[in-house]
Amino acid sequence: MKMPMMSVVDNLHNVRARIAAAAAACGRAPDAVQLLAVSKTHPPEFIRTAHGAGQRAFGENYVQEALAKMERLRDLELEWHFIGPLQSNKTRAVAENCDWIHTVDRERIGRRLATQRPRGLAPLNVCIEVNVSGEASKAGVPPDEALALARTLAPLPGLHLRGLMCVPAATDDGARQRQAFRTLARLQQELNNAGLGLDTLSMGMTADLEAAIAEGSTLVRVGTGIFGPRAAAGPGP
Ligand SMILES: *Cc1c(COP(=O)(O)O)cnc(C)c1O
Repeated sequence: MKMPMMSVVDNLHNVRARIAAAAAACGRAPDAVQLLAVSKTHPPEFIRTAHGAGQRAFGENYVQEALAKMERLRDLELEWHFIGPLQSNKTRAVAENCDWIHTVDRERIGRRLATQRPRGLAPLNVCIEVNVSGEASKAGVPPDEALALARTLAPLPGLHLRGLMCVPAATDDGARQRQAFRTLARLQQELNNAGLGLDTLSMGMTADLEAAIAEGSTLVRVGTGIFGPRAAAGPGP
């Protein structure tokens, strides 16, 4: 299932056009929405190709896989986002090597990241993952616990709390997609009304980025749309 390299560049242009069209459709500036290229399970050469086409921010879900790619791509200036579930014994690798983490949903993980973030680096950008669909199997804090977690994390040195993130239950129903994203957007508004000053809504993937942008997404996480189908589930967290 290896894709020719040209497709990565073509796909990237296509995704950028989708983002611009979705932003225009609701009167937002195209650069109001950042594109995170989700490269999990794909080889470093795909990242290099995307970088050549101007992409700088990449998302990975598995710590070991991310570290291996960082090592191979040291010569490039890249922004690394960790977007997978994180166990407490892997926090140090993220604190020391990533620019962002989107999946903090426990105080303990946030405190470890804060402590382990090297003081010579800029604070680690953090999003709190929220379980907007209420599925028992899903990661993320319940919406009614997000404010308390945000208040705990916001003052920690070593962290810069940026916003909220969600991965809603998959559905083809555009109205239901928007409803889930609206839940996250409203929650962000509530937290900001409480003084949190969050500027990032990490929501929207290949299948639903238009719905997410219509509800105020500032960062879409796109894998398949750029790099093609993933052959395997990856090496595990
Ligand atoms: C894999 C993944 C994505 C990208 O999903 P696509 O459907 O391939 O665009 C986005 N966010 C998270 C958290 C992921 O795990």
